Amino acid sequence: MGDGKTLHFDTQQIHAGSHPDPATGARQTPIYQTTAYVFRDADHAAKLFNLQEVGYIYSRLTNPTVAVLQERVATLEGGIGAVGCSSGHAAQIMALFPLMQPGMNIVASTRLYGGTITQFSQTIKRFGWSAKFVDFDDLDAVKDAIDDDTRAVFCESIANPGGYITDLDAISAISDQAGIPLIVDNTSATPYLCRPIEHGATLVVHSTTKYLTGNGTVTGGVVVDSGKFDWTANDKFPSLSQPEPAYHGLTFAEAFGPMAFTFHGIAIGLRDLGMTMNPQAAHYTLMGIETLSLRMDRHVENAQKVAAWLETDPRVDYVTYAGLPSSPYYDRISKICPKGAGALFTFAVKGGYDACVKLVDALEIFSHVANLGDTRSLIIHSASTTHRQLSVQQQEAAGAGPNVVRLSIGIEDADDLIADLDQALATATA
Ligand SMILES: *Cc1c(COP(=O)(O)O)cnc(C)c1O
Repeated sequence: MGDGKTLHFDTQQIHAGSHPDPATGARQTPIYQTTAYVFRDADHAAKLFNLQEVGYIYSRLTNPTVAVLQERVATLEGGIGAVGCSSGHAAQIMALFPLMQPGMNIVASTRLYGGTITQFSQTIKRFGWSAKFVDFDDLDAVKDAIDDDTRAVFCESIANPGGYITDLDAISAISDQAGIPLIVDNTSATPYLCRPIEHGATLVVHSTTKYLTGNGTVTGGVVVDSGKFDWTANDKFPSLSQPEPAYHGLTFAEAFGPMAFTFHGIAIGLRDLGMTMNPQAAHYTLMGIETLSLRMDRHVENAQKVAAWLETDPRVDYVTYAGLPSSPYYDRISKICPKGAGALFTFAVKGGYDACVKLVDALEIFSHVANLGDTRSLIIHSASTTHRQLSVQQQEAAGAGPNVVRLSIGIEDADDLIADLDQALATATA
């Protein structure tokens, strides 16, 4: 029952990857709070270190609690393997690491989590990598941006901060044509609302900090591999297609076939970069995932009600929620995320920057935090916080201009959320 391949989502979110503990029969996945694992004998140890046998060595690489989470998320995403990481940002670096070399670039959407824009536009330069940002609704611009040194295309399924929906089928057709992988950050949608691999994604990354854990307790990330990309089809991915000196000349694509990326992620990525998920975090996230579909249904229902109310309010200029028929992305919902457009969107307040700042201070139920995907409703004024490092032009391209606030709608009572927004808007626009 553990791998749950033929089971429905609601069953998989509880069972995939978990088995009663072989030592004690414990039904819930134990937190294996251990750094190391005893080898059966010297031969066993040597085989593990040679990757000739799969097993536990040291928790920087693998841990049984984290392994259950990896298998659960891989199953829910329809992938064949996953690597747990210490945060969503760690997962992004871990997704790029096997693909990149100094001088190589990625083509990324302008509509991304603010921290991702900073990671891609500033920090990765220090590895000799770079990113070209383009509007992913302009398919010709995406095509034109890809050059001989491009090693991946990167976007979010439901994109920050406006809740825009990316036409993943159109984008994956372009990355396929170029012979490079499409990486989709599926944090805001979760595999319940969107399954990027079914739309051609090669890799799916998550900040498990958000909806997967669901209650704002731990940071974590996951990279899921579809297992569908042929790393040997061209010479662009030598880390996977050529002999690896750090493993006696083993070639990952040859030795592990469709699992090459996942094995590389653990055996090289986690071993040498060490951005490992800890078993406590995996435990909290496993708890969260058990109720994912129930929470996401409620998140979507509440977001729909709050967005519809805001749209008719005279103090509001516009609302970006893709679940509203007025959204240009409304038509993409049935194709890309048929169970709903998520619970993340922005709205523009008449009165601009000053009114936005007053609004966030006047709210009582909504918390002003740099987080999303919590059971609690959250608000942030991106321009003065998460998108502060960006120019006004970049902020506007990202949908986070100075007059805009982002909501992450929780699973409270929608009428209470609306009443809270009503009183705060009154204060903000008085
Ligand atoms: C939060 C978030 C990240 C970064 O994840 P951390 O766990 O905070 O490192 C990346 N992408 C999206 C869409 C996010 O919401």
